[in-house]
Amino acid sequence: MLRSASILKCQSGKKTLRHCVPSQLRMSRQLHARRIEGVDKNIWVEFTKLAADYKAVNLGQGFPDFSPPDFVKEAFGRAVSGDFSHHQYTHAFGHPALVKILAQFFQGSLGQEIDPKDNILVTVGAYQALHCTFQALVDEGDEVIIIEPFFDCYHPMVKMAGGRAVFVPLRPKAGPEGLQSSSHWALDPEELAGKFTQRTKAIVLNTPNNPLGKVFKREELQVIADLCVKHGVVCVSDEVYEWLMYDRAQHVKIASLPGMWERTVTIGSAGKTFSATGLKVGWAMGPESILKHLKTVHQNSVYHCATAAQEAVAYGFERELEHYGKPESYFLQLPQTLHGKRQKLAECLVSVGMQPIMPEGGYFMIADISTIRVDLQDPHNADEPYDYRFVKWMIKNKGLATIPVSAFYSPENQKDFENYIRFCFVKEDSTLRAAEKILREWSVKK
Ligand code: PMP
Ligand code: GLN
Repeated sequence: MLRSASILKCQSGKKTLRHCVPSQLRMSRQLHARRIEGVDKNIWVEFTKLAADYKAVNLGQGFPDFSPPDFVKEAFGRAVSGDFSHHQYTHAFGHPALVKILAQFFQGSLGQEIDPKDNILVTVGAYQALHCTFQALVDEGDEVIIIEPFFDCYHPMVKMAGGRAVFVPLRPKAGPEGLQSSSHWALDPEELAGKFTQRTKAIVLNTPNNPLGKVFKREELQVIADLCVKHGVVCVSDEVYEWLMYDRAQHVKIASLPGMWERTVTIGSAGKTFSATGLKVGWAMGPESILKHLKTVHQNSVYHCATAAQEAVAYGFERELEHYGKPESYFLQLPQTLHGKRQKLAECLVSVGMQPIMPEGGYFMIADISTIRVDLQDPHNADEPYDYRFVKWMIKNKGLATIPVSAFYSPENQKDFENYIRFCFVKEDSTLRAAEKILREWSVKK
């Protein structure tokens, strides 16, 4: 494929193939490594571009379209304009000020004394923490259990590490009459147990879940924990939305359950924590016996993440530790603000005939679109899942961008979940009002 592309280029440049392809490559059959086959499509690249091309009101990609808190912006400013050392290399596994405060901050919720040097790795966003984890732990042929729906990158990351993803779905159960909640989606314990084999290396948990907003309860986590302990399996727990809890939901760290600290990698993101997704500071926490392997990957690939950004995040956590539990705490204020936005979006979706699933946590709300009938005749992408075609149509014809939910499913289960789309409600009220206007006018015209 790549080779033929290079031939075409050569022809258009009026050179022969011999001139264009280095001698080593002439021997090999293909340019790219096999591990990247089948992972070339990316939902964020595709739909973010489409939303921008059509200048759509964007409730798609998960980022706040409002400013981070002043104390974070000011801290970043101070870091950049301050000491020369903030512009130089820092410690490979985490800026000392940051690992120190992360250790202090999280030891309570992890129920564990955290050593800033041994138990923490600071990474380029949660993405790189995930990448280091899979590269460090997964061998050729190992199985990794992924709970569906899942943040899309888990699957390609497992594949690129040589592993095989084994999927287990959260299944919607009938709840009481009225608005459905993400809490009605649950794992079937027997089905989950049946996925563990001798080859199982790890299970990936995401709570609160993206895209569903499910917050796993302690009893649900205990089922997963028991299986991990029984089979000697590592749990990769992605907790980037941990502060964003609504109503009475409570975030429990699976690493704090008995027997789990020594087998869990807990992943977080400063981008999500401080509403600054461009910061790209994340972390992995866990026992030294696991973390040392993640560090091996990190030191030989990225080495460390931007010093000034780490300095700013360190300040953010220092400030939060001081205000924790008080009204001034950003970790208290942000979910309060988002609670109202979540409520308004749900009401709007119901009024236009969609059926939202109320999230217990996180940035997103998914909604059932099966009652909305539109004419999606587009011969170019007839083989795509229905929700992909629906969202593309909506961006182009209605100027509103969301994300198709089947993107968060494996190819084998995609078909069962192509009647949902995902809305991000971490947006300015004006953006949410613009989206509401589009939806209301559309529903009146139908
Ligand atoms: N995990 C989940 C569940 C996410 O939604 C995201 C996107 N923010 C990430 C990881 C990646 O986070 P970051 O932007 O810090 O790399
Ligand atoms: N995590 C974000 C989301 O779910 C987007 C990540 C990205 O844009 N790569 O919307």
